[in-house]
Amino acid sequence: MNISSEELILKAKNFTKENIKPIAKELDESNRCPKELFDPMRKLGFFRAQYPLEYGGYDMDYKSAFYILKEIAKGSAGISLLYVVHWMATDVLLKYGTESQKKKYLKDLVEGKKIAAYSISEATAGSDAAGIKTVAEKVENGWKINGTKYFVTNGGIADLYFVMCKTSPNKGAKGISLFIVDKETYGLDVTYYAEKMGFRSSATTNLVLKDCIVSEDNLLGKEDKGFEIVLDGLVGGRLGMSAIGIGIGEVALE
Ligand SMILES: Cc1cc2nc3c(=O)[nH]c(=O)nc-3n(C[C@H](O)[C@H](O)[C@H](O)COP(=O)(O)OP(=O)(O)OC[C@H]3O[C@@H](n4cnc5c(N)ncnc54)[C@H](O)[C@@H]3O)c2cc1C
Repeated sequence: MNISSEELILKAKNFTKENIKPIAKELDESNRCPKELFDPMRKLGFFRAQYPLEYGGYDMDYKSAFYILKEIAKGSAGISLLYVVHWMATDVLLKYGTESQKKKYLKDLVEGKKIAAYSISEATAGSDAAGIKTVAEKVENGWKINGTKYFVTNGGIADLYFVMCKTSPNKGAKGISLFIVDKETYGLDVTYYAEKMGFRSSATTNLVLKDCIVSEDNLLGKEDKGFEIVLDGLVGGRLGMSAIGIGIGEVALE
């Protein structure tokens, strides 16, 4: 599709006005993530801005993506949070994924046909992310994951969960790896849909992984080198959160 950054941002502005603002109060009151909007947002191309053409993106800069977020946040911060987390996962796949991983997942993520979650936090590991207890242990032809994640944005709506695990439990941040876990993986369970004070149109859940077996090819980056990758992904997340903050501020002034 031949579209300029300005046109795409304007589409986000109009979409927010026509489709998000009218239901924003209801979403907030009912703590509901509006899945019915995913398809139209996908068709309008909001997921694709900053990614390369070869993977279905529009090859725009990140600024374009953040202006889209800002416009959506003016209607609903929770809906824009969906993008922030989805893009963190997409970014690290683009940067660190093998050709086979990109071939398998990237285009669907860029086009928004699949939604991703980026799951680091646990009950006892928030700011201190390296303190996680979820463990991935080597088994024949793959890895077995056990643990419970908290505060999983896009929990229950994601198709792919990017899950940070300890692979060398005694090595702190130097013993962490990142795995791509398909929602259909046996043993993966989304539990507890959080009631929050804000971002109420964003799905926030727990994620339980019980003896989840994933293949070797689901390891993103090298074994024990995942912490740097996860932190790298958070950079885009922080910029995204800023865009949401600015959107909320602007609409408050308006
Ligand atoms: C709406 C929402 C969505 C989220 N989505 C995701 C997600 O998709 N994926 C994910 O992995 N996580 C997610 N999180 C979790 C988020 O990353 C954590 O809340 C964050 O890392 C802070 O961790 P915590 O809540 O355990 O707070 P804590 O780490 O317990 O911190 C509590 C307070 O103590 C302060 N503090 C912590 N350590 C220190 C210290 N050493 N010295 C001084 N002060 C300190 C902190 O600044 C904070 O004010 C989400 C959270 C929210 C609220």
